[in-house]
Amino acid sequence: MIFRTHMAADISGLVGESVSLAGWVARRRDHGGITFIDIRDASGIAQVVADGLATEDLRMEFCIRVMGTVRARPEGTINADLPTGTVEVAADSIEVLSPSDPLPFMLDDRVDADERTRLEYRYLDLRRPRMAANLRARSKAVSAIRRSLEGLGFLEIETPTLVRSTPEGARDVLVPSRLRPGSFYALPQSPQLFKQLLMIAGVERYFQIARCYRDEDFRADRQLEFTQLDLEGAYWGENEVQTTIEAAIAAVVQDLRGESPPLPFPRLTWQESMDRYGADKPDLRFGMEIVDLSSELTGTEFRGFAATLESNGVVRGINTGAREFPRSLADKLTEEAKALGAAGLVWMVIEPDSQLRSPVAKFLAAHEQKAIVEALAGQPGDVLLLVAGPWRTAVTVLGQLRLSLGRPEGHRDLAFVWVTDFPMFEETGDGNLTFSHHPFTSPQDVEVMRNRPLEAKARAYDVVVNGVELGSGSIRIHHPDLQRQVFDILGISAEEQESRFGWFLRALRYGTPPHGGFAFGIDRLVMVLQEEANIRQVIPFPKTQTGHDPMTMSPSPVDEGQLAELGIALVEE
Ligand code: ASP
Repeated sequence: MIFRTHMAADISGLVGESVSLAGWVARRRDHGGITFIDIRDASGIAQVVADGLATEDLRMEFCIRVMGTVRARPEGTINADLPTGTVEVAADSIEVLSPSDPLPFMLDDRVDADERTRLEYRYLDLRRPRMAANLRARSKAVSAIRRSLEGLGFLEIETPTLVRSTPEGARDVLVPSRLRPGSFYALPQSPQLFKQLLMIAGVERYFQIARCYRDEDFRADRQLEFTQLDLEGAYWGENEVQTTIEAAIAAVVQDLRGESPPLPFPRLTWQESMDRYGADKPDLRFGMEIVDLSSELTGTEFRGFAATLESNGVVRGINTGAREFPRSLADKLTEEAKALGAAGLVWMVIEPDSQLRSPVAKFLAAHEQKAIVEALAGQPGDVLLLVAGPWRTAVTVLGQLRLSLGRPEGHRDLAFVWVTDFPMFEETGDGNLTFSHHPFTSPQDVEVMRNRPLEAKARAYDVVVNGVELGSGSIRIHHPDLQRQVFDILGISAEEQESRFGWFLRALRYGTPPHGGFAFGIDRLVMVLQEEANIRQVIPFPKTQTGHDPMTMSPSPVDEGQLAELGIALVEE
């Protein structure tokens, strides 16, 4: 039996031909004895006209097969919004292949259903055209990545998902072992060490579409499990890794958007990115850059600024452009700045006569006011915001205010950027050091790292689009001694180095080629390209914010027998 001769979206040129379509009842309208049915299949929608056929029983999302003849729609009934809007199928027969229960929500892109219900009935939610388009985009993205990397001689290699914990900075998802009660596998936070082992094994160019697991707090762009393009190569440096990643991303953008982004992506060092945008994932779709005003204000009599400058702090500002600036907005932004750690926020409005209206205007000399306006390229009507404080606080607060005031509404534009030269380490609250990227990242300068670790820069780089971090990578350490030194600085004792990483340190001793790589989130890239604000929109079966799947009800308790086999006893909370 032939279910269908054509897909719904492909019938436009078939006027006069007999066709058989199969799909779902997406819509029905009754007009005095004639029923119009929109039939939806994986390709799209076609209109079916049932004249004189019994259609009373056909309800929404019934799965049907229609046989009939394609004809031009009568004048005045053409639907320009639909690719098949100039034709319809005059049905000879409509057969129900399987009926549907009444729907828990309307499968219409225009109707917003509660997300929990959508996840509980995800198989219905995915029938919506927008979700179906997201699934297609994902598939195209993965295929573009494969095509581009295979063209460059990469091998696609799978690495295990039951592994020993890899330190990427997040909590592990653990899996108990039945054969070794009391021992656990971790699910990989990334294939980091395995891909490095593949370099030692002689692979030279590796990639994988890898599922990774990180038990972190959920956010709009995070899930417990996610998919990365993971990649590694030997005998190459930062520039070659970055060019390869650009090629893969450009292939995806080309296939999803029909045009490639300009290459190469601009590059900013971490320091420049922090100084100019107050973030290590800058949104370059708009300017409103942060400007250093410290030299303009040296010697100022205004205590608020003078005290900061004397104690090695900075005064920085942004020009937020011409805008209404009621008191309520000033108060709201001041609150936001304080919540982010600033002692306060100084605002200035440039009046039509170029005078400054600001609570601090009377404390600033005329030449200081002029210098501030000039440094920020202020024009009458513009609102300037200034923050005085330690460098990091000042730039991050202004960076946040910049985003609150300037971030464009639409997601259509794409501004890719590389952020390079990240610090090697960061301070943890308790005075210890932790890695910024991961502990296998090579320092730029070993001497600086040994003597002044907080000043050391890493051979690490991120790719960012529209303020979203897509992924990170680095050139790796390929000498066991250097690797030990980094572990030492991180406060990992010699015993712990041996017990956790001894196997890896040993592997590094067998002629390890210099190597480096990268990984970026495929979910995040597709999310941005599909103009979705939430990563769950592009993951077929995601979890809720609390890590729950309302459809299969996972995670779930397991029976006592299973626990006993694993040697696990639960404690009452
Ligand atoms: N393993 C790293 C990550 O998942 C990426 C890399 O360094 O290649 O972020």
